[in-house]
Amino acid sequence: MTSTETAYDDNCLFCRIAAGQIPATIVRDSADFLSFRDINPQAPTHVLVIPKAHGYRDAGELAAKNPELAGRLIAEGAEVARLEGLADHADIPGYRLVLNTDDAAGQTVYHVHLHVLGGDALGHFGSAAH
Ligand code: AMP
Ligand code: ZN
Repeated sequence: MTSTETAYDDNCLFCRIAAGQIPATIVRDSADFLSFRDINPQAPTHVLVIPKAHGYRDAGELAAKNPELAGRLIAEGAEVARLEGLADHADIPGYRLVLNTDDAAGQTVYHVHLHVLGGDALGHFGSAAH
């Protein structure tokens, strides 16, 4: 654990999931990351990948404080996509990795999490009305 990390924050939804206090459908449990299905999926496959450690509120903070862990978060997302069959999906191969950051992007949980989306053709980037 680095100096910026807290092992566990009792007020954090994703810490509580990582600790097994709130049920989730676990996809993959590795040393430093937990992957579980999003409760409100936005695509046929929608998995969230979190570092188990608390202390990084979003992607920018993670990259600044622990770039090595940020790199491995991306690799973990790619591995989850491969395990979910998205990378070489017979009909529509490929997937999207998303790191929502703060209010404009609708971030709701401030424990950094990578969205892995796929299993269908995904709409291209959207935005609120211009
Ligand atoms: P974000 O909007 O990027 O902060 O993403 C938070 C995500 O967490 C949303 O897509 C929610 O649907 C998802 N979520 C909220 N509560 C749970 C839960 N208990 N289990 C799984 N996913 C959840
Ligand atoms: Zn947390």
